[in-house]
Amino acid sequence: MSADPSCLFCRIVAGEIPAAVVLDAERVLAFRDIDPQAPVHVLVIPKEHHANAGALADVDPELAAEVLQTAAQVARDLAIDASGYRLVFNTGPHGGQAVDHVHAHVLGGRPMAWPPG
Ligand code: 5GP
Ligand code: ZN
Repeated sequence: MSADPSCLFCRIVAGEIPAAVVLDAERVLAFRDIDPQAPVHVLVIPKEHHANAGALADVDPELAAEVLQTAAQVARDLAIDASGYRLVFNTGPHGGQAVDHVHAHVLGGRPMAWPPG
């Protein structure tokens, strides 16, 4: 799906809302979460609007793969690849998804608890 003018992350892609960008590629964007839950907390999104990870994978598996590759690249760039990190795709109400534009949370810089709350 193309841009949704009511979507927060589409507005970040459009440059209407500022973000601390860490990686800007042709089809994906990575930026710092505004409310970080770890020393490194970056969101990786496709620039196109897709509601969640499953919807993206169904419609454009290559773009879904690019989101994963970009998450790994961000981890290398921010030097958390060796210590490790967590990738999270919250989906729907019980998943805690607040923004309905698919995003990978890249969390690192400290040990992550398991299981999540
Ligand atoms: P979700 O709960 O949907 O998985 O994650 C949405 C994330 O977006 C949250 O971690 C929240 O802190 C982050 N967020 C919400 N609004 C903004 C914003 O305007 N800018 C940035 N950079 N992150 C945001
Ligand atoms: Zn969107």
